[in-house]
Parts: sequence; structure tokens; C-alpha cells
Amino acid sequence: MALVELRNLHKTFGSVTAAADVTLDIESGEFITLLGPSGSGKTTVLRMIAGFETPDSGSIHLSGADITQMPPFDRDVNTVFQDYALFPHMTAQENVEYGLRTRKVPKLQRAAQAREAIASVKLAHAADRLPHQLSGGQRQRIALARALVLRPKVLLLDEPLGALDRQLREEMQVELKTIQREAGITFIFVTHDQDEAMRMSDRIVIFNEGRVEQVGTPEQVYERPATRFVAGFLGAANILDGEAARKVLGRPATVSIRPERMRLQPSTYTASGGETAVAATVREAAFVGANTVYVVDTDDGVRLSISRTNTQSPGQDQRFVAGDRVLAVWQQSHLAEIPA
Ligand code: ADP
Ligand code: MG
Repeated sequence: MALVELRNLHKTFGSVTAAADVTLDIESGEFITLLGPSGSGKTTVLRMIAGFETPDSGSIHLSGADITQMPPFDRDVNTVFQDYALFPHMTAQENVEYGLRTRKVPKLQRAAQAREAIASVKLAHAADRLPHQLSGGQRQRIALARALVLRPKVLLLDEPLGALDRQLREEMQVELKTIQREAGITFIFVTHDQDEAMRMSDRIVIFNEGRVEQVGTPEQVYERPATRFVAGFLGAANILDGEAARKVLGRPATVSIRPERMRLQPSTYTASGGETAVAATVREAAFVGANTVYVVDTDDGVRLSISRTNTQSPGQDQRFVAGDRVLAVWQQSHLAEIPA
């Protein structure tokens, strides 16, 4: 039995379908991420699990019990919001103790538990500060401690790192993951940032227009996208279908191939077994630091993006420039067939 079971959840707001037939099993201890563009229904699904929204139809079970109609505060679930929602007039310690106080945990015990939770987010030295005396990242960690101290079975996090600048966000991604693993709490995490989802998650649920497009490990959804939407949403992809598939592959198909799985070779190159080589002309070469990204047009007029990792010393790499005649080369096993 899964810890959280969502069955055919449906939710509309007026004429907008925010969630359509969402079915998902979440295992105990899992770090699962709801990923999708803005407006795809991630927050709505999270709010239904929290109890802040009631589905029009469908059910939610937690540890086997039907909680679909249960009020939020009776659910063994806690939410960390993007804006932290700390009480401004309370110290970090008091903020973390607050939930324990409302649960009538005795004073000494709640002080100790709050100290422990604050230590777990590495802010023991800042426990007596007010929220405005903390940095954005520190406020975020206190908000997390405030949720963790209640030891919920499930922690819901809605874009909790969205307000942080990039460097801090990346540090917090690592810390959140460590805290989750150590606490053994199931995290349901919402983000629209694919890198963040790939870095942190055991599994990713990809949303589009209120529907679940695919559920899988980061590697599964990246390497074996189930739909065109997933192939295009996660990282860069060359998607070949219709005419382009016939020209490049010589057969009708819908396939995706990642830019980093293709190589450029001089037009004198001889392809080996298992390789496909297609004559092309370089249109653009962009140096972007770790990679050089080439845009090429095949002689049949199909545009491909090909990325090359810059592994050699500066100046030592073989670089191509616009106008060069080349071969676009890939292993047939690097093509991912898109079923839908
Ligand atoms: P996401 O979190 O993926 O950005 P949301 O779940 O917030 O998406 O929204 C899904 C859709 O439902 C959007 O079109 C949004 O405008 C709409 N929506 C969400 N909440 C409400 C609401 N309370 N009233 C009206 N429309 C809403
Ligand atoms: Mg949202």
C-alpha cells in the first residue's frame, strides 16, 4: 500500500480545469516532485492533498484512510509555502515552537524539540533572531524547521526555493534533500524548474494542463519521454516526426534525440556500425561555457541542435564554424521513440 494514494482527482474553477483525472501513488520516504509549467495544476493538487481545496471528484487516501473530506488540520500533513509565512514578531525559536504550543506540548519539551529542529537546519546560532534579522535562505530554513518539528508523515512544499537567488537555491536544494533523507519524511515538492526537479527527486510527476503526462525517475523521464510534451519540456530535444522523421530516419516515427547524444564530424568521417550519419551544414555555433551548441541544417532541410562538451584545453577542441560541411552522427540506440 502506498502512503498517499490519489485516485482520479478532478478540480475545476469555473471554466478552468485545474486538475483532470490525476491518479498517483506516493511511497513512504519518497522525495517526489510535481513538475510542470505555470498553470499546469501543481499547486491545486498539492492544496487538495493539504485539504485547502476539495476535489470535485476522486479520492485521497493517507496510510489507507480516506482523507478526501477531512479538514486540513486533522491531516498528518504539513505545508511549507514559498513566502515562508513566519510570524514577524516572534523569534525563530518561537516560530518553530508555535505549532507544538497549539498541540499543547509542555513547555520544556517543545523548547527542546524546537531547538533540535532548528539545529537540523543548521541555524542553532540564529534561534533568537526575528525573521527580519534573517536572510531569505535562513527564513526558508526556519519555515522548514517549523514544519519538520511537527513530524508530519508528509511534507508538502510549494516552490519553497522560488524566492531565493540562484546560488542560494542550489545550496538549499542539497540541504533540503539531506534533511529529507535524515528525517525520513515523505516530501511532495512542487517546482516549475526542471533542473531543480532532476537534482532532488526520487521520482518526478510531469504535469501539463491539469493532467499527469508521465511519472518516473529523473533518468526515465529524461531518457524515455512518454509524450512529446515531456520530451520538449525536459531539457533540449530534437523531436523528429512526420516529414522530418521520414527524411532523417527514412521511416515514419516520432522520436526524440538529445543534442548531447549527437556529434558533429568532418564530412570525410566514415560511420561505424550502429551509427547514423547525415550530411549537414553548420548554421550557428554558440560557445556557452561548458558546451558549444551547434545548429545545423541537414541537406534535406531538417534543423538539428547538437551540443558538444568542451573537455579540451582552450583552443585544442575541434570547433566547427557557420558554413562548414559536416556529418551529424548518432548511435541508433540514442533515439527515444515517443509512444504518444
Ligand atoms: P500551477 O501551480 O501549476 O502553476 P495552479 O494549480 O495554481 O497551477 O493552477 C491551475 C489552473 O487553475 C490555472 O489556470 C489557475 O489559473 C487556475 N486556478 C487555480 N486556483 C484557482 C482559483 N482559486 N480560482 C480560479 N482559478 C484557479
Ligand atoms: Mg503553483
